[in-house]
Amino acid sequence: MTVRVHFLGSGNAFSDGGRANAAIHLTAPGVSLLLDCGGSALPAIKKHIDPGTIDAIAVTHLHGDHFGGITFLVLEQHFAGRKNPLIAAGPPSLEQRLRAAEQALFPDFFGHTALGFPLRTVVLGAEPTALGGARVAALPVRHVRLAEPHGLRVEVAGKLIAYSGDARFSEHLVAVAKGADLFICEASYFDKDDPAHISYRTIVEHREEFEAKRIVLTHLGADTLARLSELELEHTTDGTVIEI
Ligand SMILES: [Zn+2]
Ligand SMILES: [Zn+2]
Repeated sequence: MTVRVHFLGSGNAFSDGGRANAAIHLTAPGVSLLLDCGGSALPAIKKHIDPGTIDAIAVTHLHGDHFGGITFLVLEQHFAGRKNPLIAAGPPSLEQRLRAAEQALFPDFFGHTALGFPLRTVVLGAEPTALGGARVAALPVRHVRLAEPHGLRVEVAGKLIAYSGDARFSEHLVAVAKGADLFICEASYFDKDDPAHISYRTIVEHREEFEAKRIVLTHLGADTLARLSELELEHTTDGTVIEI
């Protein structure tokens, strides 16, 4: 069975290169799962797919370019007449942060209007959780502590897709990637050592250690975008589709 990995948003928090924030749609028979839903994800989603087909969202961490679009998606889906449930899964504070975002962005709506569909929040952990037709495990990575970062391991249609979220290199990131059919890895920087992000150069250095069959770069920052022609690993743009 083939899994379709559709990069609706391939950008970083600054939308370098005019790219949308993180939003990666996984589909297979009976599966429709969004990995991350950044602040600018909704226009990117609507450009490519019907948002009503998304059954669940798995969030890597609580930074706005990874979860800030959920509130807009929920509002849009309410007015679009959605009836089927939507599940948002992620770090322990996801529910609290979503409620805070709702009150910050649309206090006149949230808490005053009954949502037309069930919205449920689930905490992800090392034990795989059934989500959107897939099974998703979350392992801690090193990024920014307050954002409760983890990487995802998604079992879907017999394939394993790993996703770094935002992370600097550590043995934890290796554990996220290990044995994946596809490892989706952020590459905010080309060769800068950053305390919160892995660079392209470091990914290449540890390429074998990840033991992933295929690596694709996303979350590209200006630094990486300026040197695209030097990349030896494949990279995404908004709209890239990979089938595995
Ligand atoms: Zn980010
Ligand atoms: Zn981040």
